[in-house]
Amino acid sequence: MDIKVFTLFPEMFESPLNSSILFKARQKGLLNITLINFRDYAQDKHNSVDDYPFGGGAGMVLKPEPIVLALEDNLSFDDDEQEIILLSPQGKVFNQENAKLLAKKKKLALICGHYEGFDERIRSFVTQEFSIGDYVLTGGELPAMVMIDAISRLIPGVIKETQSFEEDSFYHGLIEYPQYTRPRVFRNMEVPEILLSGNHQKIQRWRRKESLRRTLKRRPDLLKSYKLTPEDEKLLKEIETEEKNNG
Ligand code: SAM
Repeated sequence: MDIKVFTLFPEMFESPLNSSILFKARQKGLLNITLINFRDYAQDKHNSVDDYPFGGGAGMVLKPEPIVLALEDNLSFDDDEQEIILLSPQGKVFNQENAKLLAKKKKLALICGHYEGFDERIRSFVTQEFSIGDYVLTGGELPAMVMIDAISRLIPGVIKETQSFEEDSFYHGLIEYPQYTRPRVFRNMEVPEILLSGNHQKIQRWRRKESLRRTLKRRPDLLKSYKLTPEDEKLLKEIETEEKNNG
């Protein structure tokens, strides 16, 4: 995948892009990331990229020319494979479903705002607008890194076993079941016996049930839109009875 990031602070990306899985993905050529500083496209001798808001008010607003010139110089607007994303707290809230869809694209562009935000007219040059949550950050750099990370790990080959992300929380709409590793007993807390049984079918059933239990307890909102199988319905009835009995 080819990702182009338009930012005033490319240095912020250095550590996340040069560590761990993203670094390996870049080395393998699965991920090609280019950082473009739109200050390089400033039009005046002071290299200014922001200006006072028309109508008055606090803060500075990113000017449209440097960003749009940077986009025009680096992207092709009539390419169906190209997604141009604006990071903004006003966008739709990014989730795993969006990550899955974007992981299928060949070319992504991410535009990071800063200061008070950007001139409204920039919106007419983008294909989508995403927020990473209902809070306001100082810039779009951290949101861009969050999106790059979530999308990249879904690209075939970036993570060795596809199964490891398919069982993650949200991938199929539920929260993941509890995980354990060695030692078998830690500070008097034991690993559930069933996980040591070697009975694959029973382990799968236990995991499914615990995934449903977790989702019911922590994120009941997810269950409302989830398509339960008859087996899930059965497991949920068992969970309800168990929870009642446990007080
Ligand atoms: N005045 C803007 C508003 O109220 O919508 C907020 C501007 S914010 C201080 C500066 C930049 O940070 C935004 O243009 C955006 O690129 C980025 N940003 C801040 N919070 C964000 C969020 N939750 N998701 C995505 N981007 C965000």
